[in-house]
Amino acid sequence: MKYEKIKKQLLYNPRTWLVTGCAGFIGSNLIEVLLKLDQKVVGLDNFSTGHQYNLDQVKELVTDTQWNNFSFTKGDISDYETCDNITKGVDIILNQAALGSVPRSIDNPVLSNNSNVTGFLNILTAAKKNGVKRFVYASSSSVYGDSEELPKIEERTGNLLSPYAVTKYINELYMGVFYKCYGFESIGLRYFNVFGRRQDPNGSYAAVMPKWISSMLNGEDVYINGDGETSRDFTYIDNVIQANILAATTTNVEAFAKAYNTAAGGRETLNNLFSAIKNGLEKKIDSLKINDVIYRDFRPGDIRHSNANIIKAKEILGYEPTHTLKEGLSESLEWYINDIKGIKK
Ligand code: NAD
Repeated sequence: MKYEKIKKQLLYNPRTWLVTGCAGFIGSNLIEVLLKLDQKVVGLDNFSTGHQYNLDQVKELVTDTQWNNFSFTKGDISDYETCDNITKGVDIILNQAALGSVPRSIDNPVLSNNSNVTGFLNILTAAKKNGVKRFVYASSSSVYGDSEELPKIEERTGNLLSPYAVTKYINELYMGVFYKCYGFESIGLRYFNVFGRRQDPNGSYAAVMPKWISSMLNGEDVYINGDGETSRDFTYIDNVIQANILAATTTNVEAFAKAYNTAAGGRETLNNLFSAIKNGLEKKIDSLKINDVIYRDFRPGDIRHSNANIIKAKEILGYEPTHTLKEGLSESLEWYINDIKGIKK
């Protein structure tokens, strides 16, 4: 497997990485894996949706020597000077900093644009200026918009449905232009509903999976927006980490200035997901009583069905997802049961 080979090479030939959004769900998982591979890691986060306790948790999971390879700056990518300073001496950037959530962007498009577009352009420009060799960033399946075609193929997108989708699409346009104008090597990863340890279950913009798990564990009601037949390609965090590391290290010149579906390549409805989480938790905790799901209106801006064709990432990057939804869910439930107190701090 290419990923295993690359990890060995990184151990022998460590690099300096910048992970923006490192106090968030995906960012904190990326820094954990990089530090365990003895890489030098620089982290940036403004704590808008990320948490210090995610960084504290990573500290507990790595050795003291590995933790000493990490330096953190609290700062905002919408400030160019911050981006200029933080990118000096960096080899590879994994840009995760952005305001997630379609509904958040509908409520406040200017705020989403500040982080996701202005911030993105700042960090991209500073990276180019300071000689960063590779820039990998989080795009999103939302760029498929109203396209009903399944599975989703990178080259065929529809009309965008939310300000959030616009921001991610603009990222992809900048990536293409920076390659044409400056030969700057960047790769976009279109994440499909990522889930796993350290994903925040709290707040009105929380993603469905951690929100449901937390609600069930706390005896609270669980809601489905719509009829529950909406479907998603739920992608376990380990698959996303793999895609980032492959994109960051690929030597395939065909790979640059393109965006890749980053998914498991499956599809599950919300109704089935609800049952799988409920059954999984009830199996693990005898005493748990879980209420029936409550249906409410569809949410504006949501795509009805989502399922990725992942051939492009497989062929060009050597991506081989290691976890199906079922495998990832089992690991996630275990983590939330053990850690629910920690994440509610
Ligand atoms: P998250 O909210 O847990 O992490 C984002 C992090 O970025 C947070 O720690 C936040 O404080 C930080 N941040 C936001 N704006 C910032 C700014 N202006 N300057 C510095 N830091 C800033 O979300 P996540 O799920 O880990 O998402 C990571 C990336 O992946 C985001 O770009 C998101 O849009 C993208 N994405 C996520 C999913 C998913 O399913 N989780 C799907 C598609 C795309």
